[in-house]
Amino acid sequence: MLYIVATPIGNLKDITLRALDVLKSVDLIACEDTRHTQILLKHYGIQKPTTSFYQHNRLTKAGYLLKLLKEGKSIALVSDAGTPGILDPGYNIINLCIENKIELTVIPGASAFVNALVLSGKPAHKFIFEGFLPNKPGARKNRLKELSKSGQTLVFYESCHRIQKTLEDIKEVFGSKEIAVARELTKKFEELKRGPAEDILRDLLSGKIRGEFVVVI
Ligand code: SAM
Repeated sequence: MLYIVATPIGNLKDITLRALDVLKSVDLIACEDTRHTQILLKHYGIQKPTTSFYQHNRLTKAGYLLKLLKEGKSIALVSDAGTPGILDPGYNIINLCIENKIELTVIPGASAFVNALVLSGKPAHKFIFEGFLPNKPGARKNRLKELSKSGQTLVFYESCHRIQKTLEDIKEVFGSKEIAVARELTKKFEELKRGPAEDILRDLLSGKIRGEFVVVI
């Protein structure tokens, strides 16, 4: 069967006992980046064969993994951080398993948007998880304008390379609305900034922009 295993988003201790049991017991671990996952496996003394399953080989590799599953092998699917399938490779193999009636389950754990949403203090009973905004400036601003009409809490993922541009667009579309920007969740330099996009941007630009971000509006 296929085990979709959530792994830490930073702090290596954020993994469940069940996830560790599964990683120790499967025949193969399919990882987004085998070197990255080795850090976790080494930390917990787990020695298991790994294979890469990432954005660019996911279509061909999914077929190979399906063949192994059909032969009765058990496979754990992990990503670099968090829950596989939430904006990282996973979708293809999960759907192939469904089509081929392969048993599958999720071993729950971390996902960056949950931490950010809860920490932000924004209403979390209804929210829109938007993932990454479009790369192109026009499309990004249009999407923000559309989303602004929803009246719901909005959650975005963002990288250190694009956070500045995204906050500039948020400032234009949402004006002085108080937003929250989480950075480096569960890690040593975890922080959550609250305020209008303009203030957070000024603060961010006062140093070097590092880390991974979740924006909550
Ligand atoms: N599957 C992952 C999950 O369950 O959260 C998300 C993978 S997605 C490719 C990576 C994005 O998640 C990053 O660009 C960042 O926006 C967010 N992210 C992951 N780890 C984070 C962390 N420790 N702090 C803040 N954001 C994080």
